[in-house]
Amino acid sequence: MSKILVTGGAGYIGSHVVQYLRRCGREVVVLDDLSGGFRDAVPAGCLVEGNIGDRAALDQVFAEHGIAAVMNFASFIEVGASVKDPSAYYRNNIGNTLELLDAMARHGVGHLIFSSTAAIFGNPEYTPIDEAHPKAPINPYGRTKWLIEQLLPDYEQAYGLKSVCLRYFNAAGADPDGQLGERHQPETHLVPLVLQAASGRREAISIFGTDYPTPDGTCIRDYIHVEDLAQAHLRALEHLESGADSAAFNLGNGNGFSIREVIEAARAVTGRDFKVVESERRPGDPPVLVADSALARSTLGWTPEFADLETIIAHAWAWEQAKGVKW
Ligand code: UDP
Repeated sequence: MSKILVTGGAGYIGSHVVQYLRRCGREVVVLDDLSGGFRDAVPAGCLVEGNIGDRAALDQVFAEHGIAAVMNFASFIEVGASVKDPSAYYRNNIGNTLELLDAMARHGVGHLIFSSTAAIFGNPEYTPIDEAHPKAPINPYGRTKWLIEQLLPDYEQAYGLKSVCLRYFNAAGADPDGQLGERHQPETHLVPLVLQAASGRREAISIFGTDYPTPDGTCIRDYIHVEDLAQAHLRALEHLESGADSAAFNLGNGNGFSIREVIEAARAVTGRDFKVVESERRPGDPPVLVADSALARSTLGWTPEFADLETIIAHAWAWEQAKGVKW
């Protein structure tokens, strides 16, 4: 069977997708430069070390492996960092991604699943956010993802490259079997940071902004289990393999939780108390991001398995505890 190239497959979401695809009998090759990922997150023999901006490395991977589809996770993902250093984001998330798309065109690879984000919507005009919602990113990170989404139809028209864009809301949780989990360095995401505070590895958790126009003044997000995202990627690929049209889907649970609610849920799940510090707003954060994922459910047959926040936090907590003793 032909293989799926997973770029960024050593990272958080990518590694969970790789594991899911293999469990479903798919053959996978990972291309990752290990700038944000981990060698031990990739199954033995699957990893090719390299960057998606490296034309020669791409040509070699495509020539050697009979790649039929690409899932692209290789990108920078921090809103705050993108505001501080937009150039790095434009070079990596746009420039290098174009190299990948060009390599797909050169090698006649016709299916792409592209990791996009809720950040393309900016400050929502209504909520929950469906696919038709206006796209108006308010930070460079969101702009990089929206720009790639916008040029994909040109690649399809000219080179026959069909795509599904998956707009993740807030990925969280960990492999329910405990083999994989979230480990960014440095960690910037709310759920792992709260759990580091619960485990005592971090002195406190800071809330970035308590004066947002939300009921408790803190930002509201839609937390979606990484394993459910993994399922969505396979469904999206099957969608293209069945001959269906290119598309874009919003992926979330449709439930919004404030930062204070996440902290309370973490206290309940872990049975630990920890210090909370109220801090300034972080630049680039919209007050509320909640998904309407009805289209993904009806079109892809996507059925999230781990929708409730407690389960998401419990799986992340199991990983945090295992990881805490490992490193
Ligand atoms: N956040 C926070 N404290 C932290 C990390 C994040 O208050 O230590 C907030 C952040 O400002 C945002 C929400 O938690 O409102 C989710 O942020 P995260 O970085 O996890 O995901 P993002 O929404 O940026 O993809």
